[in-house]
Amino acid sequence: MSKTQARTAIVVGAGIVGLAMARALAEAGYQVTVFDRHERAVGASVRNFGTVWPIGVANGPLYARALRSREIWREFCAATGTWHAPSGSLIAAFHEDEWAVMNEYVGMNEGIRPCRTLSPAQVREHAPGVVSQGLLGALLSTDEWVVDPREAIRALPAWLAERYGVQFHWRKAVTRVEHPWVWSGHRRYGADVIYIANGTDFETLYPELFERQAITKCKLQMLRLEAQPSPFRLGPVVCGGLTMAHYNGFHATPSMARLRERLAEQHADLLALGIHVMAAQNGLGEITIGDSHEYGHTHEPFDESAINRQIVGYLKSVLDLPTWSVKQSWHGIYAKLTDGKRSELVLEAEPGVTIVNGVGGGGLGMTLSFGLAEEVVQGQLRPERCEASTASVS
Ligand SMILES: Cc1cc2nc3c(=O)[nH]c(=O)nc-3n(C[C@H](O)[C@H](O)[C@H](O)COP(=O)(O)OP(=O)(O)OC[C@H]3O[C@@H](n4cnc5c(N)ncnc54)[C@H](O)[C@@H]3O)c2cc1C
Repeated sequence: MSKTQARTAIVVGAGIVGLAMARALAEAGYQVTVFDRHERAVGASVRNFGTVWPIGVANGPLYARALRSREIWREFCAATGTWHAPSGSLIAAFHEDEWAVMNEYVGMNEGIRPCRTLSPAQVREHAPGVVSQGLLGALLSTDEWVVDPREAIRALPAWLAERYGVQFHWRKAVTRVEHPWVWSGHRRYGADVIYIANGTDFETLYPELFERQAITKCKLQMLRLEAQPSPFRLGPVVCGGLTMAHYNGFHATPSMARLRERLAEQHADLLALGIHVMAAQNGLGEITIGDSHEYGHTHEPFDESAINRQIVGYLKSVLDLPTWSVKQSWHGIYAKLTDGKRSELVLEAEPGVTIVNGVGGGGLGMTLSFGLAEEVVQGQLRPERCEASTASVS
């Protein structure tokens, strides 16, 4: 009996989407090679909060995908000793409308999600940093996880190489794709299937195809605080009321309109900058906080300290931390889908070449990529077909 050769796959991009594709393809028996233009990942996947965030998606298939992704994070963290915290998330309520949305959310999710409301005294037990004055209670969800993206995204390639034999070509920009080939300059590499997960560099390959897509780029400003003095721990990822207006899962609650009205009156400046605040603590005690959301194809490379002040200002109404000393600030950019209909972009650019981008609409790649990648490779989620766009311009 002749031994059949393994099918081969090339993945372009070693952010979370490319790494998740590499894992799912390797699990399906492919021999996988990953290309990234940089020496190591420096894109959205290392610039985020590192929250695995099921509370950010609506009930149904996306919630199931988030839970499956979390399973894979669990497996990876256990195998590699990568730091993670099954911390859950806590949204603090200081206004009646926020409290009403939380109670409605808990009612709507009974038997579906592990969430409940907490009294102020219970909040203090779970999250001692939450401001006491004016606190009405909080929503606690135990689904959420935190990893430190800088550690996790850089440990994933080594795990994929060791466990599955995935090969990585770092500092090799892919400049052209035409199935079954990808080119990096004049060098050509072949594979049975090709997946493109190039994040915000989406226009580099198949530019005409992307001109027709409802996609843009979202810039987010972020800060990291110095380690909090021991023994202080934040506990869950902590958010304020603005977060509920931001995520789909809360939009069906009857009191959401009332909450939105008040936010528009009191926080028009924050809403204009797309600010909703979250704080997540890593294993070193540092707290990552953010964020703002600006949309457009081209962003200024400069960060606005006024935006950072707004983020910190709002967060101070929610959290009373031992130290607010800022260690770092930066921005990240992700590819953002704009039609409001799709929760990811999975496109067949040409037979044998699939683009995977805009996961969770763009802002939930850490939460959904592992599960999405499995669905794509296993054929549960079929790529949208579009006409080939490889024709050269004369
Ligand atoms: C500030 C911020 C906070 C966020 N917080 C969260 C969060 O808490 N939870 C969550 O679930 N999601 C979060 N997100 C969203 C998440 O980070 C993104 O959805 C995800 O990182 C996108 O992954 P990606 O692989 O598509 O992109 P990237 O991480 O940008 O990776 C793309 C890779 O492709 C490579 N590449 C591009 N073009 C080429 C080429 N031609 N040849 C070779 N290589 C190429 C790049 O070098 C890059 O490494 C956040 C995003 C930001 C910016």
